[in-house]
Amino acid sequence: MDADHLSVRLATVAKYVLPGSRIADIGTDHAYLPVNLAKRGVIAGGVAGEVVPGPFKNAQREIEQTQLTDKITARLANGLKAMEPSDNIDTVVIAGMGGALITQILTQDFDRLAGVNRLILQPNVGEMTLRTFLMTHGFQLQAEEIVSEDGHDYEILVADRADQPEQYTEEQLRFGPFLLAAHNATFIAKWQRELKRTKEVLQQVQSAKEVPAAKVAELHTKISEIEEVLQRVGA
Ligand code: SAM
Repeated sequence: MDADHLSVRLATVAKYVLPGSRIADIGTDHAYLPVNLAKRGVIAGGVAGEVVPGPFKNAQREIEQTQLTDKITARLANGLKAMEPSDNIDTVVIAGMGGALITQILTQDFDRLAGVNRLILQPNVGEMTLRTFLMTHGFQLQAEEIVSEDGHDYEILVADRADQPEQYTEEQLRFGPFLLAAHNATFIAKWQRELKRTKEVLQQVQSAKEVPAAKVAELHTKISEIEEVLQRVGA
């Protein structure tokens, strides 16, 4: 992968960046995403934020080599602290981390999102945590995708600022309201795998010396929810 050849996962993220946006790509690593978007003239400019010096240097080098320093600024900073008010960022991208870490990054400097209208998030796990965060912090899901690459499934969540985001059920928060409605083959395969894994965990938990009743009940609920959804989508 490089800035001219994004992975399927990052290309899907890129699809949801609106033309003319000013983006902050938080945890940018090589800055392939903002460089790709700037080269293609999709974004007006933005920030490539990184908290680790090695990847930050990679991002700086990529931006310099592609002569995009007038459009993209690399900043060594923790999470949203990479954004300054004068950057006029309207879109924040956070991809390739766990849902809990993405939620933490968004929560710890929430006031820095004041001018941001769109969040494009790609959690590797913990999607339910992130959907709950969006729903309770004034962001309405607009689209969701699930893509498969190199044996992994990745969900992409796109949310825009809203006064009254739709209040989702626990099922919608777990499976994703848009993914539930579309239920494509990748979605079905993901939840078939997750069902098998959850049943294995249940077996292990039940064979413990002291069986934790609350955990068993939680796993039973999750198994029923997955079975119900898979049955409904005809899998
Ligand atoms: N976003 C790229 C992508 O999706 O391909 C890179 C993903 S990489 C797995 C995660 C990156 O996020 C790493 O470079 C890591 O250093 C960075 N990161 C983790 N926590 C961060 C934080 N709090 N602030 C900024 N960057 C962070």
